[in-house]
Amino acid sequence: MTRPDGRQPDQLRPISFIPNVAAHATGSVLVSFGDTRVICSATVEDDVPRWMRTQRVEGGWLTAEYSMLPYATLDRKPRDISRGKLDGRSSEIQRLIGRALRAVVDLKKVGQRTIWVDCDVLQADGGTRTASVTGGCVAVAIAFNRLFAQGKLRDFPLKKLVAAVSAGVFEGVPVLDLNYLEDKAAAVDFNVVMTESSEFVEIQGSGEEAVFSGAEMTAMLELSGNGIAHLIALQKEAILAADRAAPADLAALAAAFGR
Ligand code: UDP
Repeated sequence: MTRPDGRQPDQLRPISFIPNVAAHATGSVLVSFGDTRVICSATVEDDVPRWMRTQRVEGGWLTAEYSMLPYATLDRKPRDISRGKLDGRSSEIQRLIGRALRAVVDLKKVGQRTIWVDCDVLQADGGTRTASVTGGCVAVAIAFNRLFAQGKLRDFPLKKLVAAVSAGVFEGVPVLDLNYLEDKAAAVDFNVVMTESSEFVEIQGSGEEAVFSGAEMTAMLELSGNGIAHLIALQKEAILAADRAAPADLAALAAAFGR
């Protein structure tokens, strides 16, 4: 088995995080998993959803929105607004992102605030949801760091980092972090969300006109666990770098894209 881009089965695509790409968001990052690129931002609003006020629920809320820019895919994909309804796939993905991030945020420590996490896919080449979770967590960490530095938080609400990656069975072999060509051809597709303490938050796994064995599932989870440990190390570097980087670091953008 040879992967379309020549990677080893357990190898991630080149990963990069460019922090501070959107000056008006509280925290932002452009995350790349190979040719998949997602702009993730976290914006803090000093209000909570009405249901929290009426039910007198303590603390704040975190919610996510996901969308693909029209030119993110090979064929132009019209914006949801021009079709008058939210795409079912987007809705499923944004709920996954919200659940993943709420699993690691202590909402009581957020105070009476809503954290809006926006994930906009600039370029899609497979694994946009896993890149969104991974980048979304970096954006949230940067946002909390800023609030904390401004004295707006008494305790730090992010309990630990969370990241996500895909795995699948491609030409009979379990592989990590599928690109679009692999995703299209894969018999089995897993999306795994894990914290930095190796706890699972969510596993989405399915056979596509195919079935999978327990051994294959174990292999995919092991690949994912190792991939996530690597992603978390890179997230930590990116969160630290965000404090040093100039807003919208264009030199870093150019370097990451090899220009
Ligand atoms: N894709 C596309 N158009 C769509 C939906 C998906 O071109 O309307 C491509 C895109 O490259 C995406 C990939 O198919 O990354 C896999 O999509 P999937 O729904 O499995 O989600 P993802 O892997 O991006 O989380």
